[in-house]
Amino acid sequence: MRVLSGIQPSGQLHIGNYFGMMQPMISNMAEHELYAFIVDLHALTSVHDAQRLATGTLEAAVDFMALGLEPERCIFWVQSDVPEVTELTWVLSTLTPMGLLERCHSYKDKIAKGIASSHGLFAYPVLMAADILLYQAQRVPVGKDQKQHLEVARDIAIKFNSLFGDTFVLPEPVIDADLAVVPGLDGQKMSKSYGNTIPIFTGEKELKKRVMAIVTDSTPVDEPKDPDRCNLYNIFKLFAPADRLKEVRDLYLNGGAMYGKIKLELLELLWEYFRPARQRREQLLADPGQVRDILRQGAEKARAKAAPTLEEVRRRVGLRY
Ligand code: ATP
Ligand code: MG
Repeated sequence: MRVLSGIQPSGQLHIGNYFGMMQPMISNMAEHELYAFIVDLHALTSVHDAQRLATGTLEAAVDFMALGLEPERCIFWVQSDVPEVTELTWVLSTLTPMGLLERCHSYKDKIAKGIASSHGLFAYPVLMAADILLYQAQRVPVGKDQKQHLEVARDIAIKFNSLFGDTFVLPEPVIDADLAVVPGLDGQKMSKSYGNTIPIFTGEKELKKRVMAIVTDSTPVDEPKDPDRCNLYNIFKLFAPADRLKEVRDLYLNGGAMYGKIKLELLELLWEYFRPARQRREQLLADPGQVRDILRQGAEKARAKAAPTLEEVRRRVGLRY
């Protein structure tokens, strides 16, 4: 099975990215043909600062490797190092109905959050379709927020195939129901661009600040609360061992759950959970040249996979005379 997914270097990677995409990708490494990439062209829709984008790209690659992605067991590259994807984006955009993009929630959510609207942000799902179709990916592990974009990619592939003949594999999303949307500090989807994240790699002091800022309600301690509707609980459950989670769940249901205490416990769990990755990250950061080499080699492999598909597309649509 060919499995592909990308992550934007649009800010510090967070636990939503980890559970929604990075961990499923890493666990697919053993069994499947894996394509993992840092999508800097996508991040350009929200980051217009060269230094921040360039540094963020390298750091996202380092973070992914620190968390367990082994570049020798997959194809791992930076999106813009394979320019073929932008050509395919154009071809696909000429057959993407406007209405399909106008219905996309992600665009509307980002605009509502104050991110400047642009043609690139609007056309984001077409670039994403090109990412997936160019490599003929069969499975795409993503968070639930990307489900609609996957449907767009499928619709575009179906349209192309019916107009020009069978060319693209139809991709399927892989979404773990339990981890589909990790809530942010404010209870909305945790997003790099919303400033409501728990970053995977940040100092202990900053981490504490974020955890303490998780929004909870003002129900008195002794009163029962619904754990499943509590933002703190929904984050806590990702890290707590099963027996402890059961105890805390009972406290919610029967009264006695103290948010402050649970937050401190969560902080401890988070810090320990990512400790080994933090150490690997330090080692990787010490030699950025090596990381760049890995990405360059990955891009060569990705490009070799992309070239035949793009050539077929050119031929099928008439861009060869
Ligand atoms: P941005 O705010 O810039 O869009 P993001 O935090 O949404 O950043 P992306 O790079 O857009 O992160 O998404 C990378 C992957 O992480 C996608 O597969 C996406 O579905 C997943 N993901 C992002 N946020 C969450 C979340 N809160 N819960 C689960 N999965 C998530
Ligand atoms: Mg996103």
